[in-house]
Amino acid sequence: AKGAGRNRYSYFTPTLQVAALNRMRLTNDLRGALKAEQFELYFQPIVHLKSGRIHKAEALIRWNHPQRGVVSPLEFIPLAEASGLIVDIGEWVFRESARCVQRWRQQHHPEFQVSVNQSPLEFQREDGAYDAWLRYLQSLNLPGQSVVVEITEGLLLDANATVSNKLLQLRDAGIQVALDDFGTGYSSLSYLKKFDIDYLKIDRSFTRNLAPDSSDMALSDAIIVMAHKLGLRVIAEGVETPEQRDLLAAAGCDYGQGYLFARPMPAEQFDELLRQQAV
Ligand code: C2E
Ligand code: CA
Ligand code: CA
Ligand code: CA
Repeated sequence: AKGAGRNRYSYFTPTLQVAALNRMRLTNDLRGALKAEQFELYFQPIVHLKSGRIHKAEALIRWNHPQRGVVSPLEFIPLAEASGLIVDIGEWVFRESARCVQRWRQQHHPEFQVSVNQSPLEFQREDGAYDAWLRYLQSLNLPGQSVVVEITEGLLLDANATVSNKLLQLRDAGIQVALDDFGTGYSSLSYLKKFDIDYLKIDRSFTRNLAPDSSDMALSDAIIVMAHKLGLRVIAEGVETPEQRDLLAAAGCDYGQGYLFARPMPAEQFDELLRQQAV
């Protein structure tokens, strides 16, 4: 269009330059963050709704930046992906999580699980092999089932050979798979029977608007019934109120996760939480 050439430059406003510079600096800092031990894993309980007991935890990474304080993964994971640093970070997350789940299996429950997030880029890399993860788990005397990998449904939608292959590797290692943010993407349901998925995580955007007879209630009901028919367990994200928990439990949802139960917390604090709940 006419004038497009001139308009193009209007993108380079000072604020965008600042944002770009900011990203560059942050990416630079990110390179040294692993070595400087600036990452920390937080854990958020995943509660079995029928019994009210903590069966699992999701590992959520935090970056304690020396100048900026805590940087959200929403800000730095995209930078880690773009720079390739996500691979080393992902390995670190896995190993830290494995060491924690080892302790929690011994001290709390022999079937305790920790789930780790994998961004699409991380999941799709050719060289990553889950048999190395399994060997690491075995070195800690843990079975593959002690870990769950959370991926997003977009990955399955345009599943290529690498994605299918990765899912088979996970199955061979006995590592379970959760489909994160379920319902936010395209939600073609055919892939649920095509791939070996263990858990569906109902996205927070559904949980937020749960009310009796609401459309989000109807959708959640349908997701839960369908998931169970296909042999999957369901975890609802973002449970913040007792009403949401009760509606989900009444709909047959297996697990809940959210601020109602607890915010993500450092591992030592999670130890304490489990101790209070000792069986
Ligand atoms: P996610 O996997 O969907 O994780 C759930 C997010 O919801 C977490 O944000 C958690 O703190 C937040 N949350 C939990 N309960 C509630 C609630 O009741 N209400 C509200 N409003 N929020 C709740 P967080 O920790 O900031 O993580 C954001 C995203 O960053 C994660 O979304 C995940 O996509 C990504 N992420 C976090 N850790 C890792 C990691 O180790 N590796 C990768 N690749 N991505 C990660
Ligand atoms: Ca997740
Ligand atoms: Ca999620
Ligand atoms: Ca999310």
